[in-house]
Amino acid sequence: MQIYWTKINKIIEETPEIKTYMLDCPEGFTWEEGSHIHLALEGFNAGEKPNRNLIRHMSISTLPHEKSIGITTRIKEECSEFKSILRNMKIGEEVAVFKTHSNVPLKREDKNVYLLSSGVGLATFRPLVLDYFERADNVNHIHSLNIDSSRDFLFTNIFASLPNKKFTSQFVDNRNDYYDEVKKLAADKDGIFYVVGSDEFLVHNIEVLRAQGVKAEQIMLDKHEQTKSEFLAF
Ligand SMILES: Cc1cc2nc3c(=O)[nH]c(=O)nc-3n(C[C@H](O)[C@H](O)[C@H](O)COP(=O)(O)OP(=O)(O)OC[C@H]3O[C@@H](n4cnc5c(N)ncnc54)[C@H](O)[C@@H]3O)c2cc1C
Repeated sequence: MQIYWTKINKIIEETPEIKTYMLDCPEGFTWEEGSHIHLALEGFNAGEKPNRNLIRHMSISTLPHEKSIGITTRIKEECSEFKSILRNMKIGEEVAVFKTHSNVPLKREDKNVYLLSSGVGLATFRPLVLDYFERADNVNHIHSLNIDSSRDFLFTNIFASLPNKKFTSQFVDNRNDYYDEVKKLAADKDGIFYVVGSDEFLVHNIEVLRAQGVKAEQIMLDKHEQTKSEFLAF
């Protein structure tokens, strides 16, 4: 496994709690839309075993042509050791990235695609939408629905409805509105439903979608095959 040490080249304050860290793209490092990486901080491999407190899975919120690996994360006042170190990191400092994989590439099957997310989960979808804007082949329409109770919605420049691009986007700030909307979207019996958020959020969305008649094979989760099957089993 190749570990790439790379520098932070920009830090974007997306909202009061959410930051995007732009990392230099190491030579030969590439990825597809929907990918995640392992992001690790200095010292993670100093001992005999890797220090898990210093490693997190993170989605890549950019596409390779943007020339930086974007990592978008929420850092609350009360946070883990990992996030408290990250919060204090400056441009020019190094982090490690390794093991890239996409569980959620954009499906081009001439269907409508629904992107359901909670909070910073929207970061996983940013590259899917950019990829679609560049090449809409074999995708009928994309609709994004994001819930964020903070009301500090993310990436509003990209996640704005563009009817001529067959893209619509909706932000809501409460669960009632969110699940009412999911039920309406689930009326599309042939759509593809991507869901990104906490495990609890996934379980609830799957329950609502399945109750409306959406089949397991229409639901895409950012999980490896085995874990995905376990989520979709009931
Ligand atoms: C495939 C995949 C992709 C992912 N992509 C992303 C991504 O793009 N962006 C992203 O942010 N995450 C992503 N995650 C999740 C990520 O790996 C972390 O699990 C998540 O960000 C939580 O980080 P944390 O454990 O450092 O906890 P934190 O975010 O720091 O904390 C989690 C919760 O616990 C509370 N908490 C933590 N420590 C304390 C403490 N000491 N005292 C009191 N309360 C505390 C916090 O307030 C918060 O509510 C992804 C996960 C997977 C599997």
